[in-house]
Order: sequence, then structure tokens, then C-alpha cells
Amino acid sequence: MPGTPSCARPGRSGYAGVATCGSVWVCPCCSGKIASRRASELAAVMAAVEAVGGVMDFTTFTVRHHRGHRLRDVRDAVSAASRAVTGGEEWMRDKVGMLDWARVVEITHTRRSGWHCHVHALTAWSSAVTERDSAWVPIRAWRRWDRALRRHNFDSTPVRGVDIRRVVGGDEGLGAYFAKASLELTSTFTKDSRAGRSPCALLRDATETYEVRDVELWREYEAASHGRKQLTWSLGRMDLRRFAGLSREQSDEEIAAEDRRGRRPLPRRRDLDDDQPKAVTG
Ligand SMILES: [Zn+2]
Repeated sequence: MPGTPSCARPGRSGYAGVATCGSVWVCPCCSGKIASRRASELAAVMAAVEAVGGVMDFTTFTVRHHRGHRLRDVRDAVSAASRAVTGGEEWMRDKVGMLDWARVVEITHTRRSGWHCHVHALTAWSSAVTERDSAWVPIRAWRRWDRALRRHNFDSTPVRGVDIRRVVGGDEGLGAYFAKASLELTSTFTKDSRAGRSPCALLRDATETYEVRDVELWREYEAASHGRKQLTWSLGRMDLRRFAGLSREQSDEEIAAEDRRGRRPLPRRRDLDDDQPKAVTG
């Protein structure tokens, strides 16, 4: 039965059978759990690339925007541009020597300039390709990104539209750096930035103040995010998950529905009988 309190051991208590929504975009509970799992997988991939003497680059692609843009339109343009980045003959030529890629979509909002949607891409190389040599790949990718945006009435700029960084560990050591960088990459729900309020901050403002504008923004965000992927792995011959020995990619809903020990999937919300109580929706 959903939402049944349980006491597994003396001195410990919790809930079993709690229904989960599985949304990485709008749910404070599920997004944290999903981000944590995705981060551990990304960190495993980064460690595997480093173990074979490979190198990695983080590239961020952005889109120019203003307050009048609707999020759904921005997201549609960004989806098309993302496909253009990792598609076509030029990309296939640039992929020679590359292990493959993963990308994460991040959304923030500012009252001054509206929805800010950008894509962080991790590209992994099988050998110690120099930054100078690998930098051409994201620069060419940005040109495809910009062309695709323009077909959707958006654009980007070479100065602010693309940012390229080589992945290098800090003082804390590579393992700790990989864990930190991965979690930062996947925690898009809670990550405030100079570019604006995170979805979590938007939800907090909407529910604390009931300011009409914030409630409308949250609803717009909810509707424009539904059914979209936050993290996308390449599915090519050399996909990174397989390279790192990871198992089949689980959906957001599957991750959210696992219990704390990862053994037993909990019922998803849509599987529950409407007559049963839905005590907590995570
Ligand atoms: Zn949830």
C-alpha cells in the first residue's frame, strides 16, 4: 500500500511503497535521486577515459534570448541545434579518435532576460589529443548549432555562444574532481547561477509568494519540460556507457522508483489504483 510507515530495524523508521513521479525537471525529491545516479555514472565514465590515457573536454552551447521568448520555442530550437551538433558528415569526420559524448540540458530564468537554456557536452578522446587540436571540433559544432538555431528564428554568438574547457583535476585528485564535476553537471534542478534562478528557486518563489508572474513561469516551465531528456548519451559504436562497463541506462522513472537499497522498484504513480491513498508523491 502506498505511503505505509514501516520500521525495518529498532530505532529506524521510514516509509515504504511511496509513489514516485520520476520527473527530473520538476520534482525536488526525484530530481535529486536521478541527478545523483546520473552523476555517479558520468564520474565512472570519466574515470574509465582517464584510465586509458584519454582526455575530455566540456563544451557549453548557449542561445541568445530575451524576455519575450517562450520556453517551449527556446527548447524546440535547442533540441534541433543539439541534433545538428552530433549529426552530419562533418561531425562523423570530427569523431575520428573520439570515444563519444554525453550532453545535459540546463534551464534558468532571469526577470530581465527570460529563459536561459544551454547545453553542456562532454566529449571524450581515446588518446591525449591536445587542446589546440580538439578545440576545432566544438568550434565547427557551434557553427552547426548556430545554423540550426537560425532555422528556428534564434541565434547564438561566437563570443558568448560557445565555451570550451579541457577537463583537468584540481588539488582534490581526479576521482573527487570527477564526482564533483559530474554532480554539478546533473544537478540542474537546484543549480542557481549568474544566468538566473534554477527551477528549484523558481518553484520556491512561486510557492512562497504566490506572485502571479512566478506561478505562470513555473507552469510554463512544467509544460515545456514534460517528456524531454535531461541527459543524453551517444548511442554510437563506441558509446561511453559501454566503454565504462555500465549496465543498461535506466529511465528517470525507474531510478526514482527504486527503494533506498536499489533492490525493489516502487510503484509508479500511473500504476496505482486511483482508489488507493497517495500519501506522498516523491
Ligand atoms: Zn517525484
